[in-house]
Amino acid sequence: MKGFSMILVYISMTKSILSFMFVLTVGLGSCQTGVKTNINPINNPKKAMETSYNKTDEEWKKELTPEQYRVLRQKGTESPHSSELNDNFEEGTYVCAGCGTELFTSKQKFDGHCGWPSFDNEIGPGDRVKKIKDFSHGMVRTEIVCAKCGGHLGHIFDDGPTQTGQRYCVNGLSLGFKKLEKKDEQKK
Ligand SMILES: [Zn+2]
Repeated sequence: MKGFSMILVYISMTKSILSFMFVLTVGLGSCQTGVKTNINPINNPKKAMETSYNKTDEEWKKELTPEQYRVLRQKGTESPHSSELNDNFEEGTYVCAGCGTELFTSKQKFDGHCGWPSFDNEIGPGDRVKKIKDFSHGMVRTEIVCAKCGGHLGHIFDDGPTQTGQRYCVNGLSLGFKKLEKKDEQKK
């Protein structure tokens, strides 16, 4: 009887080792496929939309003006030349109107003659503004959203007139402006 149960134990051990190896092989296989298909974050809208900011629609409605809500949370577009920030060339920092993340500086702003605030770059190494392929309205464009709160900013084009060649075309309603204080200037 003892010998028989030993055999049973041996068989079940072999089984679990085999299934462990199977899981390992399959696991590694799928891992490699994952790396291959995940090279460009732009082509992975789901990944790009993942944000650390999880507010409900109701909370956003309370915090934002109806116009800001339409642009930031419903991907709306403000009328061209409607934003005061379009003609603002004072020194300072442009922040996300949804979460306050600093996105652009006044040095990165230029007159795009398009009716919306335009920037040739963003603050940081490129992780504050997420780029997502956008096929809406029969066009192929790249939408830009705030990486932290997922708020819609506008679109990015590669026809910029400066060295970067980029044009971040941003709704003024998606932005706030922090003017550089004179105190800050004296400190430098
Ligand atoms: Zn934001």
